[in-house]
Amino acid sequence: MRKIHDFHGGVHPPENKHQSVRTAIANAGVPEELVLPLSQHIGAAAQPVVGVGDKVLKGQLLAAATGFVSVPVHAPTSGTVSAIEDRLIAHPSGHSAPCIVLASDGMDQWQDCVATADYRSVDRVALLDQIRSAGVAGMGGAGFPTAVKLAVKPEKHIQTLILNGTECEPYITADDIIMRERASRIIEGAQILAYLVEPDEIVIGIEDNKPESIAALQAAAQDTPVEIAVFPTKYPSGGEKQLIEILTGKQVPSGGLPADIGVVCQNVGSAIAVRDAIIEGKPLISRVVTVTGDAVAEPQNFEALIGTSMSYLLQKAGYQPEKNQRLIMGGPMMGFTVPDPNVPIVKTTNCILAPAATELPAPPPAQPCIRCGMCAEVCPASLLPQQLFWFAQGKEFEKAEQHNLFDCIECGACSYACPSNIPLVQYYRAAKAEVIQMREDAEKSEHSRLRFEARQARKEREEAEKEAKRAARKKAAQEKARLAAEQGEAGEDPIQAAIERAKAKKAAQVAGSGAEGGSELEKLEKAVVTIRKRLETASAKFEAAKAEGAEHVDALKLGVDKTSAKLAAAEKALHDWQQANPAANSELPSAAEPADAAQAAIQKAMAARAQDAARSPQEKAQDNLQKLESRLTKSEARLQQSRAANEEEKIIIALESTVERLREKVAAAKAELQDKETC
Ligand code: SF4
Ligand code: SF4
Repeated sequence: MRKIHDFHGGVHPPENKHQSVRTAIANAGVPEELVLPLSQHIGAAAQPVVGVGDKVLKGQLLAAATGFVSVPVHAPTSGTVSAIEDRLIAHPSGHSAPCIVLASDGMDQWQDCVATADYRSVDRVALLDQIRSAGVAGMGGAGFPTAVKLAVKPEKHIQTLILNGTECEPYITADDIIMRERASRIIEGAQILAYLVEPDEIVIGIEDNKPESIAALQAAAQDTPVEIAVFPTKYPSGGEKQLIEILTGKQVPSGGLPADIGVVCQNVGSAIAVRDAIIEGKPLISRVVTVTGDAVAEPQNFEALIGTSMSYLLQKAGYQPEKNQRLIMGGPMMGFTVPDPNVPIVKTTNCILAPAATELPAPPPAQPCIRCGMCAEVCPASLLPQQLFWFAQGKEFEKAEQHNLFDCIECGACSYACPSNIPLVQYYRAAKAEVIQMREDAEKSEHSRLRFEARQARKEREEAEKEAKRAARKKAAQEKARLAAEQGEAGEDPIQAAIERAKAKKAAQVAGSGAEGGSELEKLEKAVVTIRKRLETASAKFEAAKAEGAEHVDALKLGVDKTSAKLAAAEKALHDWQQANPAANSELPSAAEPADAAQAAIQKAMAARAQDAARSPQEKAQDNLQKLESRLTKSEARLQQSRAANEEEKIIIALESTVERLREKVAAAKAELQDKETC
């Protein structure tokens, strides 16, 4: 006999279950339209694989899973996809979400199903894949993908496989009725699950307020290793952690999973879905839903297709809207108010509760907390609900997390017990939502930061590569210019070239004279040249200022006079030195030549520039064209030579490029000349 344990806290709200189990499960039939949300489970939404207008068969895949924690969606009946769009879904916030809308053709025609009756001959991984492909998600409320829960790591030994038949929430009887009517399918499902996780024991946990179910399960489990464990009724015994504690005495650690303590827990409805997926090859397209409350004339359980609207089922149960105060999806403790009766049922919808106004009256206004401690006394998760309330109200989320906010199973026992009618669970839900949002924001911001840094690194890398290419090109150009200069083709500044040539000539001259004398003569000559250049510049500025009538013309005139005097002094010093050093006179340039070769070259270049400035634009364009044509002729000849001599390919390519460029320049120069002539 199994030892039954107890968990901390819990409450005993009125059960109100008897109303909906007076009749057998009714088939709700096929509505004209089914609305299938792409996300009916925990994890990533499914991705449509059909388009609007597609005809589909019952059981056909409509949307595929998009990740490990995701489940597909299948057609609950045959028909045509009439829309893929956002529709209102069953959610406390009343928001819309992407849905596939299916118009029924009334035929309810199945696609071919691939059954695996002898599942023990099939590899476990293949079976898990079959469960995943059938879209099975936890049907007890949370909707966690069943295949993910069953994919236990090999190093984790499972001692106990638990099937949850507790259904502790008031009003709901969906599990109760399937345990009464489909006990053998549950036992078959339990054995398939056991084949997958290889536990030491299989236990179905059930409260003692369901005698018919207990009897049915016991009968079905005869001659099987499945044990039926019955325990006293107390809310919320059906919480996964609470049930594990009741049946094993073990507690799942905070933030941990049942598998961490060697337990796997599945809902009895999920066990049937697994059984149908394997033995019959059928995907999860329908479920049993309790429709109850004093605002329906015939409370009962329906086998309803996923996607059926709540209003359709309410109608079938004799809905009396005038009596109804609000519609609840789920039970009175953990359910939520639905803003619109036309929202569809999903894989996790176990109950539609339509209470009359007197049945579940709105709670009176909340009063201040009187620190009675009742909430902590009833909390099955051994939390401190009063503190959590303060933290949630004050938006001190970090402290709320430190007080294990996420261990709260939102059972509502604290709210139920609170004499001040404080809606505690609503505060916890809001706080959790905010914390989750903050985590997601932080994650997004971290992603953005990483993306930004990666983009910066890429830009820097590209810039470095460009810089390396630029440097290589510059080096190549310098090398090319040097070679061109050596070959007499250099196109450098004529003044600079003249200075360089003169410097070289002067150096040669000085090298031929005495070192000391050459040095003094050089100094004096340099002084004369430098001052003369200054005088030219100053004179030019003065002339320009005079022409413009500028105010500072007098100051410029003074500068010209001073520089003239300096030049005279420098020339005199040079003359005196030459007189005193007749030996050096033979080295002096002839009277026809300027005193300094550099100066001569500069004067020559400046004269050329002045001459150039004096020419008309047409003459300049003509001259430019001639020069370019001459360079082109030379380059073409050089290219021909190179080809004839069969020189290296890179040389020929370089020459071809030069010729090409010069041809373009010649063409541009011709066009320019033509323009000037036209003008
Ligand atoms: S039960 Fe309500 S009043 Fe009592 S301590 Fe908790 S929150 Fe405060
Ligand atoms: S709702 Fe959370 S805090 Fe309140 S009793 Fe349940 S588990 Fe404890």
